[in-house]
Amino acid sequence: IKIENLEKVYKTEEIETTALNGINLHVKAGEFVSIMGPSGCGKSTLLNVMGLLDKPESGSYKFIDTELLTLNDKERSNFRKRNMGFVFQNFNLIDELTVFENIELPLIYNKVPTVERKRLVNEIIGRMNIVNRSGHFPQQLSGGQQQRVAVARALVTKPKLVLADEPTGNLDSTHGNEVMELLCELNETGTTIVMVTHSSHDASFSNRIINLKDGHVISEKINKGKTEELI
Ligand code: ADP
Ligand code: ADP
Repeated sequence: IKIENLEKVYKTEEIETTALNGINLHVKAGEFVSIMGPSGCGKSTLLNVMGLLDKPESGSYKFIDTELLTLNDKERSNFRKRNMGFVFQNFNLIDELTVFENIELPLIYNKVPTVERKRLVNEIIGRMNIVNRSGHFPQQLSGGQQQRVAVARALVTKPKLVLADEPTGNLDSTHGNEVMELLCELNETGTTIVMVTHSSHDASFSNRIINLKDGHVISEKINKGKTEELI
């Protein structure tokens, strides 16, 4: 990923807020990057732009060789469905659908045939250790189990990039660690991860920590222990 000079301004009737003020960020394939910084510094906005959920005013965002900011709406949504997975703080599961159906949803969006869908969902349910939960509804699961379902849903399409916004924010430390270990396993299979977090403990699982302030990158720190493992 090559992000150059990204600018995002929110305009309301009275005020303009510059949320991203010239972000430059390169992420290598297979890297696990944490984004940290004080509340309001632009972390969520950056993640939303990277996830093609929000459009910046200017700048460049290249993914492998494709410039993503000039894609039209249809192309953006196709690119997102094929290449990206999302994990949110509030899990964002659909309460009316079972665990199995929640995980299956992105495959339906991607028009994967039924038999292949069932196979992929069952495979990931096995990996996430939620086999006996596949017919349950989200509200019947603990927070940790719900986030495992959400991670499964993010992974089932085998995305190149997973974007995670405070993935452990609503979990106690035991379940939080389970989710972090899951993200690490996923990363070890080659998936690139960009994670927003307030937790330096969670950030310690990543290869590199980017610090934002007032809409730009002020510093970065390589997590040596993790990165040597990577090499
Ligand atoms: P963080 O995730 O680091 O807390 P955000 O990306 O949510 O920061 O916000 C960056 C800045 O943009 C903040 O000043 C915030 O108030 C502003 N902002 C975020 N979303 C909106 C919006 N929809 N409309 C107006 N201002 C917004
Ligand atoms: P935790 O210790 O993670 O907080 P809970 O006490 O919420 O977990 O749940 C303990 C176990 O009971 C979990 O396996 C959870 O899936 C199951 N469980 C909780 N609520 C329900 C429910 N309404 N229906 C079925 N199973 C439930």
